[in-house]
Amino acid sequence: MFEIKHTLCPSCSVGCGINVILDNDEVVGTFPYKRHPVNEGKNCLNGRNSVERFNDKIGSDIDLDKAIMEISKEINDSDKVTVLLSGNNSLEEASAIKSFSDENNFNIAFYADDLGNFEDVASYNDVENASNVLIIGDILCENPLVGRRIVHAKQNNAKIFSNIKAEKSVTANISDEVSSSSVGEFLDKYSNLDDSSVIVFNTVDSAEDLDKIRNSGLKVLPVYSKPNTKGVLSIVEDNSKDELIEVLNDTDVLLVVNDNIVDEIDFDFKSISKIISLSAFENDTTKISDIVIPIKSWLEYDGSFVNAMGDTQNFSGVLESDVSSVFEIFEKINN
Ligand code: SF4
Repeated sequence: MFEIKHTLCPSCSVGCGINVILDNDEVVGTFPYKRHPVNEGKNCLNGRNSVERFNDKIGSDIDLDKAIMEISKEINDSDKVTVLLSGNNSLEEASAIKSFSDENNFNIAFYADDLGNFEDVASYNDVENASNVLIIGDILCENPLVGRRIVHAKQNNAKIFSNIKAEKSVTANISDEVSSSSVGEFLDKYSNLDDSSVIVFNTVDSAEDLDKIRNSGLKVLPVYSKPNTKGVLSIVEDNSKDELIEVLNDTDVLLVVNDNIVDEIDFDFKSISKIISLSAFENDTTKISDIVIPIKSWLEYDGSFVNAMGDTQNFSGVLESDVSSVFEIFEKINN
C-alpha cells in the first residue's frame, strides 16, 4: 500500500519539509511538501535524494547486549573518552548525549563546519527583503532553498555580491559582482553597506573571518551542512577543526553519534585505540569503527531540529522500527 508522510529534510540546515513515499513500509521516494513555509513546495536534489541513504541502512542483526558490554568495558577502562555530538542529532538526542557525557565525565566534542555560533541570525524573509546580499560559498548550489530567497532578493532589486573559490558556480551566475579573494578581503571591500544588507555564508577561511562577520553590523545567516547544528549549538559549544584535532589527539576511545567525521577532517583516526559508532547508515566513519551499533534514523523517531534561521521544527517518525534509539542505547550503557 502506498502512503505519503510528512517530515523534514535531513540534508542541510535550511529546514525544508519533504514528503516521504512509502510502499508497504518501505521508503521508495520523496516529493516536496507543498504547504511548508520554508520551501513552499520545492526541494533540491540533495533533499529529494535524502532517502537514498536507506540503501546503506545498517542491519539490526548484531548481538546488542554483547556490543553494549564491550562499549561499557572500553569507556570504563579509559580516562580519555570523547563523545562526538553531531548536527544530525535531534535536540532531544543532543540533550541526552550531553547528560550522558557529563555524568560520566567524558569529553564532549562538536564540529559545526567552522561557522561558529551566532545568537541572532537573519530570517529567510530578511534575505528576500535585503538591499544587498553578501554571499560566501556556493549557496545556490549547496543550499538551494536559501538560494531561492536570494534570487527573490535580486528580483526585489537587491545587489548580490559573492565570494566563491570555484571557477564556475551557480551563485556566480546571479551575482552582480563575484570575487575569489580571501573572505577577509571580500568582507573589507563591502564593509560600508547599509544595515538592511545580509551576509549569507556556508564557509569561511578562518576564525578571523567570523570575527569580521560578527563585527560587520549586518544581519548574518550561517547555513550549516547538517539539519540541527544550530540546535546542538544551543546545548554545547562547538570546536573549530583545529580544536577538534587537539581533542582527538588526546582521545583513546571515541564515541561517534550519528556522524561521519572521517569525511570532514583530515586526521589520522588510526591513532585512536577504539572508535565506536552509533549510526543508522553506513558511512566512512562506521567503516573504520571497531564497534558499530545501529540506531533509529530520523524517519523512525519523533524529535525536533532547529533550522538555520533559528526556528525549532518538530518532526514525527514515519516508519516503524525495532532498532534501538540513541536514548535506549545510552540507558543500556549506563546500566
Ligand atoms: S535546501 Fe537543504 S533542507 Fe532544503 S531540500 Fe535542499 S538539502 Fe534539504
